[in-house]
Amino acid sequence: MKKNENNYLVRGSSISNILEIVRSEKRVSRIQISQKLGLTPASISKLTKKLIEKKFIEEERIEKREKGAGRPQILLKLNSQAGYILGVYMAPKKIDIILTDLSLKILKKDSQLIQKMDKRSIINQLFSMIDVNIYGLDREKVFGIGVAMNGMVDSENGISIFSPHYDWDNFELAKKIEEKYKLKVLVDNDVRAMALGEMKFGVAEGQNDFVLINIENGIGAGIVTDGKLHRGVNFSAGEIGHLTIDTHIDERCSCGSKGCLEILASNWAIVNRAKAKLRDGKKSKYLSGKGENLKIEDICLGAKSGDVLSRTVIEETAGYLSLGMRHLINLLNPGMIVIVGKLNLCGELFYKELIRLIREDALIDPIKDISIRPSLLENDAATIGAVTLILENLFKGAHIVNI
Ligand SMILES: [Zn+2]
Repeated sequence: MKKNENNYLVRGSSISNILEIVRSEKRVSRIQISQKLGLTPASISKLTKKLIEKKFIEEERIEKREKGAGRPQILLKLNSQAGYILGVYMAPKKIDIILTDLSLKILKKDSQLIQKMDKRSIINQLFSMIDVNIYGLDREKVFGIGVAMNGMVDSENGISIFSPHYDWDNFELAKKIEEKYKLKVLVDNDVRAMALGEMKFGVAEGQNDFVLINIENGIGAGIVTDGKLHRGVNFSAGEIGHLTIDTHIDERCSCGSKGCLEILASNWAIVNRAKAKLRDGKKSKYLSGKGENLKIEDICLGAKSGDVLSRTVIEETAGYLSLGMRHLINLLNPGMIVIVGKLNLCGELFYKELIRLIREDALIDPIKDISIRPSLLENDAATIGAVTLILENLFKGAHIVNI
């Protein structure tokens, strides 16, 4: 590598580190940055000067309160108005979209059910939602569009390899959006995007080794090791919904196997189990009479209100999930497991049971330091994660400032 190229990369990475420190610390002095990065105050001053000129960061004067306490302290903070980012969640049946500033404050938000499931209709609906959200904005200040996409995604090339819900395979989704808007587009799997969002802005902030489990009509995991998302050799890591939990179950899973976690603990499986118990003559003042409209929300409400049938269904679900999670914990030794999904509506009773079962008979060391927590971003986890894809890319630095 030539000397200049090397310097370019080193400075690019320093810019990236400075932006990340300013973002995560909210307000920070130049001296603190230089101590954290082990760089001289002179080089920090030079690099932050460039970032201030480009309006990515700004200074804030903090007056000392005591008399004679000296000069005001000058801290650096992110200029949240430097630009905008769009985050899109292509969910199984709906599209969510948010517009944020650089501090990830949500400025606009929209969610629409997908009207027609063919490729052209989905894309047209997506484009019209993007149009509404970027209307009136200076395009140069829109840093990009992040997309959290259901199914298997080649995140390097922005390709939706396979979606179990959409009528497309190997679709160049990023390219399609880029051609229309001439903006940077990054696409990743929805659950991985959620994990990224929780790591940067949610309950897993500061965690370098954790797993996020999304429990919807499927069950998937976003695995973070050493601060990085684990994607696998062909982007299909994290399919924990297909861990075999109970080989005595006859029902086949969508993957073709029997006894998968997904057919025992996904939302539809939970609802079906409650319906089966009602059919068997079990009584519940919360669930009887709901018929086909029975939802997981009803079961959580029932469980919290002491309804025995609802409670039993939730405890069984915690049992199945604890088996799957024990495998994960023994394999990966994560510091945290974050759960996204409607099961979080069950609150403490679900978590207490889950943690009790996980600790039962588990190996002591892998579970010693683990915490199991509900998502903080919850309904916004995927869109915030999508925005984070762009933010991380932006903060890679070198291309922000001509250095
Ligand atoms: Zn399966």
